[in-house]
Amino acid sequence: MSGNELKYIKDAFDSNWIAPLGPNVDEFEKEIANYVGVSEAVAVSSGTAAIHLALSLLEVKRGDKVFCSTLTFVASANPILYQGAEPVFIDSEPETWNMSPQALKRALDEASNDGNLPKAVIVVNLYGQSAKMDEIVALCNQYNIPIIEDAAESLGSTYKGKASGTFGKFGVFSFNGNKIITTSSGGMLVSDDKELLEKARYLATQAKDPAPHYQHSTVGFNYRMSNVLAGIGRAQLEVLEERVKARRLIFERYTKELESIPGIKFMPELNNSQSNRWLTAITINKEIVGFSNHYLLNSLADENIEARPVWKPLHLQPLFNGAKFYVHREDLSVSEHLFTAGLCLPSGSNITEVEQKRIIKCVKDCLKIRV
Ligand SMILES: *Cc1c(COP(=O)(O)O)cnc(C)c1O
Repeated sequence: MSGNELKYIKDAFDSNWIAPLGPNVDEFEKEIANYVGVSEAVAVSSGTAAIHLALSLLEVKRGDKVFCSTLTFVASANPILYQGAEPVFIDSEPETWNMSPQALKRALDEASNDGNLPKAVIVVNLYGQSAKMDEIVALCNQYNIPIIEDAAESLGSTYKGKASGTFGKFGVFSFNGNKIITTSSGGMLVSDDKELLEKARYLATQAKDPAPHYQHSTVGFNYRMSNVLAGIGRAQLEVLEERVKARRLIFERYTKELESIPGIKFMPELNNSQSNRWLTAITINKEIVGFSNHYLLNSLADENIEARPVWKPLHLQPLFNGAKFYVHREDLSVSEHLFTAGLCLPSGSNITEVEQKRIIKCVKDCLKIRV
């Protein structure tokens, strides 16, 4: 927390707006819309809810296909299943670790030949790094497929000077406890289509028709953000830029100390883009370094330091058994390679330099005892 949260929470208590919706929600929506530069934003109960609403607004239904990045957290794709639709997974490419435009092109061309184009493409910006949006937008425009940009991990990042999350028909942010800023739980759906966002508000509040009695003609959800939590979000947004700076500094310290080790590579940053470096991620070439990512993960754990593997690609998850997958290159699945060799180092904005030194020392100690 930044310290200002209680002031906004107190406003909510003083005005007795302890409800979903209220002045903090209205202001938080305006502030996020201004910050990323879109017409409007709708505050919801989670990032997952925002993705689900986007799919509902695009009328994704049973039998439809939705393309989705494979290297991501399961929440990117779960809402495809909520709608009864079929996910098709797209591999990563090496320069951003995100959706491979060449795999996407193959998937779209094939779907077009079969007369079975997807209803939407969900593009994820992994660990804060923007995907190659120019290429992806051009391909989707060619077939008129709307993009949902899953920017849950990339609030505060930019691509060619424009805010991450603003390149698709819809953008999605998350304020879950682990994200760069948090409302404990929450999300935001953004778009330049005010009409559709108006409909998002309607769907997110149980789809109440305009009538004094409770009347409903379509299925709705209870997805709106609480006015108390939006207060937390407003104070957090005030320190977002600081958080991005802190995370980028953490990344820089890691690279300075570890980049020269042969076989350890850091997640790249695409030219003309700036990542918020939500997590510092590396790959370890076991043959060159002498130990695997799992060995390092366990060695860190022995020192009471928590690191994490890279997301397990969704096409390898039992949940999505049988789902179609388009690989980056015939002979190379980039996402599978990243999963096999990758590791996320501790990256919290509040890690101190002393703590980080201890982590770095532990990595270097592994090099000494390698066999
Ligand atoms: C966190 C996350 C989500 C889901 O957000 P919640 O607010 O936790 O529902 C979706 N996609 C990605 C890539 C995430 O990291």
